[in-house]
Amino acid sequence: MPELQPSLDERDGPRDECGVFGIYAPEHDVSRLAYFGLFALQHRGQESAGIAAADRGGYIITQRALGLVNQVFKEHDLRALAGDLAIGHVRYSTTGSNEWENSQPVHRSAGQGGGNRELALAHNGNLINAVELHAELRAQGVQFTSTSDSEIIAALLSTHPADRIEDAAAEVVPRLKGAFSTVAMVRDRVIAFRDPAGLRPLVLGQLGDRYCVASESCAFDIIGATYLRDVQPGEMVTLSEKGISSRQLVEGEREAFCVFEYIYFARPDSRMNGTLLQAARGRMGEILAREAPAPDADLVIAVPDSGNAAARGFARAAGLPQDDGLIKNRYVARTFIQPGQELRKHGLRMKFNPLPEIVGGRKLVVVDDSIVRGNTTRQIVQMLRDAGAAEVHMRISAPPIKHPCHYGIDMSSREEMIAHGRTPEEVAAELGADSLAYLSLEGVYEAVRGDRARHCDACFSGEYPLAGTHDAQSKDAFELPLAKV
Ligand code: SF4
Repeated sequence: MPELQPSLDERDGPRDECGVFGIYAPEHDVSRLAYFGLFALQHRGQESAGIAAADRGGYIITQRALGLVNQVFKEHDLRALAGDLAIGHVRYSTTGSNEWENSQPVHRSAGQGGGNRELALAHNGNLINAVELHAELRAQGVQFTSTSDSEIIAALLSTHPADRIEDAAAEVVPRLKGAFSTVAMVRDRVIAFRDPAGLRPLVLGQLGDRYCVASESCAFDIIGATYLRDVQPGEMVTLSEKGISSRQLVEGEREAFCVFEYIYFARPDSRMNGTLLQAARGRMGEILAREAPAPDADLVIAVPDSGNAAARGFARAAGLPQDDGLIKNRYVARTFIQPGQELRKHGLRMKFNPLPEIVGGRKLVVVDDSIVRGNTTRQIVQMLRDAGAAEVHMRISAPPIKHPCHYGIDMSSREEMIAHGRTPEEVAAELGADSLAYLSLEGVYEAVRGDRARHCDACFSGEYPLAGTHDAQSKDAFELPLAKV
């Protein structure tokens, strides 16, 4: 299959990570449920998709390819993947590592490179000790077929001598450092575990008397399953014929759930730690209006869709009218055709189209959820001015992003971040906006009703919650020669 490269980025925001799904449900069409679970998680990764499935006791069959979920799987593929249990994965990868070999689930056979058991594994996160573990396994003669750190976890579990996968995981998981929400399957069970800080999300659901796991609860809604709870940091759950069992594998020094999941990554209809994200994002807008009012403005518009909920909250709290001043082409991330020279000059019009009748002559508050490099925002400000806006006041429902993420999110380098080394006034000038203000970190925690001591906000604060990660360290130091998922 040719390598697919989207011609247009969805936005210049941080790139999301990956999505995982797992289910044990012999009475159901598990590969179809995995397909639709992944379909709901598509926003977490658009570069590759894969499903592994097995009959109890039979071989594990894995299919994965570059592309979107609906490009990778056709009806006959799902029939070939029939079984009693399945896991799945959607992937976003950094540039240059978008090869088929790095798509997931990773599949290792019994006997492969000293393997003790056949397994398939899907992972969301980033190991910060991947290089050391990789070297150690290579020295033992373990072979790798990819450059992804997920294969390291798979190899550690596959080569471990314990009879039961759960006992192997109990010894392997304490050796992993970094972020890992992981789903793995052997022939008769699915296990799912989360790093001791709980950096990336992982939730547990129920379908009849069977169980499933996913990165986000929106994957349960689509298959008719019920969200039960979050898998706890350091916890492993087993889904098998016996139902569900749980084991605490490791206690972390502190929890550090990614606060950016609430702001941007996760779907607004997902629940995290019991909070519906659409509601939390609305509160971010309300608090932003309180912290950074725009007294002269007369209309609030969102940068769709990322700013929608916060814009509504801002308008509500400010007592200002709200309208759609920009229309977004919802299918923009799905074109793999390059626009070419003639169309390139229209730039962002591929993504957003301003409505002069709505924005003309108005003093706008324009709400978005984050700015990383600022290229998109700069073009939006210009586009709104060209459409006749009298003033453009940017309001961002997150603090300024100034530091890279070492836990599975592809941010730009610090030097590329527009807020790095600039005051909000200087950023406003760079963007051509009349004013710019950000939500405070305190405002974020008020909106998510969360405790800062149990979250990660390192990309805003520079305070990295895990020992061994700090801003001065190059992110490449952790990742080379391994790709991130
Ligand atoms: S650095 Fe930012 S994006 Fe990365 S885990 Fe922490 S809060 Fe999330």
